[in-house]
Amino acid sequence: MYPCHFHHKRAVDVVCRHGPARVLELVQLGADFTRNRDGSLHLTREGGHSGRRIVHAADLTGAEIERALLAAARATGNVEFFEHHLAVDLVTDEVGGAPHCFGVDVLDTRSNTACRFLSLATMLASGGAGQVYPNTTNPHVATGDGIAMAYRAGAAVSNMEFVQFHPTALFSKKGAGGGGGGGEAGRVFLISEAVRGEGGVLLNSRGERFMASYDDRLELAPRDVVARAIQDQMMSHASDHVWLDISHKPARDVLSHFPNIAARCKEDGIDITRDPIPVLPAQHYTCGGVATGLRGETGVQGLYACGEVACSGLHGANRLASNSLLEGLVFADRAAGPSVAHAEYALRHCGGELRRAATAAPAGAGAAAAAATAPAEWAAGRRGELQALMWRAAGIVRREAALAAALARVEELSAEAAAAAARHGVSAPLVELSNLLTCARLILSCALQRKESRGGHFSPDYPGLDPEARPSLVALPPRRVGTNGGVGQGAGDDARTGAGAGAGARGAAGGGAPGSPKKRAKRPAAAPAPAAQREAAHREMAVRSTPRDQE
Ligand SMILES: Cc1cc2nc3c(=O)[nH]c(=O)nc-3n(C[C@H](O)[C@H](O)[C@H](O)COP(=O)(O)OP(=O)(O)OC[C@H]3O[C@@H](n4cnc5c(N)ncnc54)[C@H](O)[C@@H]3O)c2cc1C
Repeated sequence: MYPCHFHHKRAVDVVCRHGPARVLELVQLGADFTRNRDGSLHLTREGGHSGRRIVHAADLTGAEIERALLAAARATGNVEFFEHHLAVDLVTDEVGGAPHCFGVDVLDTRSNTACRFLSLATMLASGGAGQVYPNTTNPHVATGDGIAMAYRAGAAVSNMEFVQFHPTALFSKKGAGGGGGGGEAGRVFLISEAVRGEGGVLLNSRGERFMASYDDRLELAPRDVVARAIQDQMMSHASDHVWLDISHKPARDVLSHFPNIAARCKEDGIDITRDPIPVLPAQHYTCGGVATGLRGETGVQGLYACGEVACSGLHGANRLASNSLLEGLVFADRAAGPSVAHAEYALRHCGGELRRAATAAPAGAGAAAAAATAPAEWAAGRRGELQALMWRAAGIVRREAALAAALARVEELSAEAAAAAARHGVSAPLVELSNLLTCARLILSCALQRKESRGGHFSPDYPGLDPEARPSLVALPPRRVGTNGGVGQGAGDDARTGAGAGAGARGAAGGGAPGSPKKRAKRPAAAPAPAAQREAAHREMAVRSTPRDQE
């Protein structure tokens, strides 16, 4: 069931079987993928791949998929888009002894007004938590909001210690990222692995090719191996970057494969057809996330997750290049049918809970008044401190003592953030800071529990693989669910609230409606617990390693 990298065999099988149909569906929707001269789809190859298998749109595949899907969604005419709306917390209640999601509280970030979106089925697709780190290829909004919200609502979260660091982000002279990478507003520019796939070689500051000393697969070794090798070379030669050179390939091929990379490098005065590109590793992908089953179901009834926010088991301890867009497509499709079935169930059986959710005030009510005093600068400073701390302690190489010290500091920062939220109310900077702190705590706790090195978690204290080790699974103790600002929940001391970790995550396996419509007696929704109590709840966070259920 768990080969050395923790891939969940059934999830891998599902993606392999259903992936091609999803790609063809995108083509039918108008996605403009790169083609060979004969009109067939061009396939590229990246790190860890044994052959060419990646359909792509030059070097902007994700952007092209997003463009095609947005156009298709707009064309239906029955999809409403709410831009500049920040999801703050899930609306949850208890049905049949298990947590159940009835929508989401959001903050309109332009007017700073809070409102509640009720829903019969809710899909989280909020991406990863790259902003936990200073050097990341992820956008400024990748603050792990969905992971933190689902965790607060009682869903299990899995494999958070497995963070993928991409070996080659552009070392830019423009601006300064906290870790030295530079780049636009909180993110560094990715130099796609396809550059190495198409023959690019890595050189150290002395101009020597070095990957042969680390792995037989040279530049196409898996990302964790290449990222560690680059970090080692940078430290050995006291340099802040290495070089990626593809200038030996025909200029016409390079420019047609990598037009976007060529254009971005040109802004820094680099002609990639002639010059090597200065690169360094950067956080790139959150392998862990909300634990989901094969239909996108989570440990909270009515809550589904797909894409980077989820941990379906496909990526195991280290995602293979270009598997994530496909994973999102496959599991979003698979969750659609069950979520409709669940909505029908909720409509029939959850009228009382829905009425209660409709009458309670949304999280963040009074945000407009709070906005005037929102400590944005303070939150930005704490966010920067957190990022630098995580890069040092929970970056490419992790030491146990540093992880423990970082966790202690993150606890302090979390207490400060909770106090600030209690004083100033809900605001976007505080919501994001609080979610980043929750994700950091999950990463550090899981990393401390792991007494081995595997995939995206490397510790010189435990350099080998432990054959007995299991994926990690974390959940708030049931009686504490919803105590970190959760909406529509009690003060969190009721043992009936919440489904626990693994059992909850599998409770809706197959995506059907919950088995028992029996409801327990309800008490009225109470105010969120005081900050100190919420903090205590987090400290009690249960971290354990549990084998995934057979599916
Ligand atoms: C530079 C780069 C290149 C990549 N290239 C590839 C590739 O070639 N192939 C591949 O397979 N993968 C690639 N990846 C990874 C892949 O792009 C991501 O894993 C994937 O886009 C995740 O999709 P998603 O829909 O889950 O989340 P995202 O694409 O991150 O979208 C999440 C959305 O949720 C919104 N959101 C977040 N929080 C909230 C909130 N609280 N309220 C409201 N909205 C919110 C965000 O604004 C965003 O619109 C790349 C990643 C990066 C950063």
